[in-house]
Amino acid sequence: MAKQPPKDIAAATRLVAAGRRPEWTGPAVNPPVWRASTYLYEDSAAQEAGRHVNADGLFHYGARGGPTQWALADALTELEPGAAGTMLYPTGLAAPAMALLSVLKAGDEVLVSDNSYDPSRNIAVHALRDYGITVRFFDPLDLAGFPAAIGDKTRAVLLESPGSLSMEVCDVPALAKAAKARGLAVLLDNTWAGPTGFQAIRHGVDLSILALTKHVGGHSDLMLGSVTANAQYYPRLRKRSLMLGQQASPDDCALALRGLRTMGVRLERSSVSGLAIAEWLEQRDEVAAVLFPMLPGAPGHDLWKRDFTGGCGLMTVVMAGRDAPARDRLVDALSLFGIAYSWGGFESLVLGVHPERDRTAMPWPPRGIDPAGALAIRLWIGLEDPADLIADLERGLAAWAQS
Ligand SMILES: *Cc1c(COP(=O)(O)O)cnc(C)c1O
Repeated sequence: MAKQPPKDIAAATRLVAAGRRPEWTGPAVNPPVWRASTYLYEDSAAQEAGRHVNADGLFHYGARGGPTQWALADALTELEPGAAGTMLYPTGLAAPAMALLSVLKAGDEVLVSDNSYDPSRNIAVHALRDYGITVRFFDPLDLAGFPAAIGDKTRAVLLESPGSLSMEVCDVPALAKAAKARGLAVLLDNTWAGPTGFQAIRHGVDLSILALTKHVGGHSDLMLGSVTANAQYYPRLRKRSLMLGQQASPDDCALALRGLRTMGVRLERSSVSGLAIAEWLEQRDEVAAVLFPMLPGAPGHDLWKRDFTGGCGLMTVVMAGRDAPARDRLVDALSLFGIAYSWGGFESLVLGVHPERDRTAMPWPPRGIDPAGALAIRLWIGLEDPADLIADLERGLAAWAQS
């Protein structure tokens, strides 16, 4: 049987010990897959009693989740200091959707950070507006202007730090404090750092969103999302999510639990390699800027150092001059970097990105970078030997420089 760990353990130890309730896992080390749509009652009295309970770990209908889902949800809650509970979703994108739907109603306004993951912006613009919720995009780096962005009807703010593609780190504690002073729910997409890299709730966030598809899955073979909430917001998140039929597959949850156990070492390796590659890229004439908060001197590094305990090897590289065909030559010349969107797996990835297509409140490229010909690529650094990745990038830069 799994023994109960002491309370004051480090994140790395928690990744190993979390979510292993002996009454569900039995003698198995990692919680096994429990597939069930149907749970049988002892008798009619038990069925009647079951109707009234909705507590953790009481299994009476598949859509409420079973032991495998609970083990993953518990593990994520244990990894987030200050959390009251976690809900799971079949994709990462369903997580911000359900977090927003659990805190907003018709007539409300939501503030959305302008550097949010593009599909999260789409939820706000194309779904919430249809339900009578207004949306305002704002620049999360403009701390002084933030209180003025909060109107009488504003009820929630959605943050993401670092922001998607442009990688700005915002001052989450300061924004959360200002938002709370006006009664707003504070939502943060914490997918880049994850709970071991940034303690969202401790820094003032109410609902912390993760695309488990990325770091927790870690092997590019599953899709899952989660929202971990504090005691104020967890009950309504749970109620609304179950009402709208949200649940994750036990098979995917078992894979995610397996991924979780090695997430610490994978992220550490991705970060160390990412830093070495970022330092190498920064020295190159072909590169205008490396947007990677873990890199000393990079935008957002000071806030990252103050608030974060980790990160991952996801970065955006702004190229100097040249044109779109040059960027395509660079991307296509790489042989160890696959061309793909969804990162967080063991394999390195590259993608030409276009932050300028979506922004309405923030500049692209970020302030201080020459906008002439500023084309960007995003790199996800996987688990390969970084020297091989640098050699591959060297070939890519040679293709970029060809005329
Ligand atoms: C990938 C991603 C998501 C969505 O996850 P999916 O599982 O692909 O739907 C949400 N937020 C961020 C920041 C992401 O990078």
